[in-house]
Amino acid sequence: MPSSVITIDGPAASGKSTTAKAVAVRLGLAHLDSGSLYRCITLAALEQRSPIEGATLARLAEEKKIELHWTGEHYKPMLAGRDVSEEIRGAAVTRSVSDVAALPEVREWVNAAVRASAAQHPKGVVVDGRDIGTVVFPGAALKVFLVADSRERARRRVLQEGLATDEENLSRTSVELDSRDRADSSRIHSPLMPHPDAVQIDTTNLTFDEQVDRVVDLARESLQKKGS
Ligand code: C5P
Repeated sequence: MPSSVITIDGPAASGKSTTAKAVAVRLGLAHLDSGSLYRCITLAALEQRSPIEGATLARLAEEKKIELHWTGEHYKPMLAGRDVSEEIRGAAVTRSVSDVAALPEVREWVNAAVRASAAQHPKGVVVDGRDIGTVVFPGAALKVFLVADSRERARRRVLQEGLATDEENLSRTSVELDSRDRADSSRIHSPLMPHPDAVQIDTTNLTFDEQVDRVVDLARESLQKKGS
């Protein structure tokens, strides 16, 4: 495990990735988005019309050399030598990713890849996902679990997608997010849940800067304690 690891878990659109990115910049660490690996495997499966079956998809991930490549500045999701940062955000991938992420062979493959990528960084990482504090890095200096009201998460996601925050967009997005969260929380292997030591932060009424400040303060405290 690299010397400094901060984990940020939580439901879809709770602000994990944007917060993790900003926290990493403030602490001089790198941001590692574990969800992007599940998305890469899903994209590969869709492109190959592969059956959604654990051993087959873990083999496909290996064959297609799926990885988070450290550029010296950030981690880039790669599939067969191709930068797929944009493609993995598409609607088809988002619709299928929870089915792929429920497979234990896929989870094992991703966990090994996350740990290997994190080990590449000289100082440390802020990793976001669903099971990073509970399964991948339970010994992390700080484990955060971000939550936010479902309606507020839908509003943020709609804004992020550059759409109008009208009733139609809000309720469609809310249904999508809730269905993915239900799948991620109810699966047998590594369901979405906070580690008992995780600090839970409800960001519903916080500004983005406030939530970043809060995590940075907690991280500085925890990293100092760990180092002393
Ligand atoms: O974070 P993001 O929404 O991009 O993650 C996409 C999907 O990947 C999640 O809905 C979940 O099914 C899966 N995931 C996971 N464990 C992680 C990260 C993501 O199961 N650590």
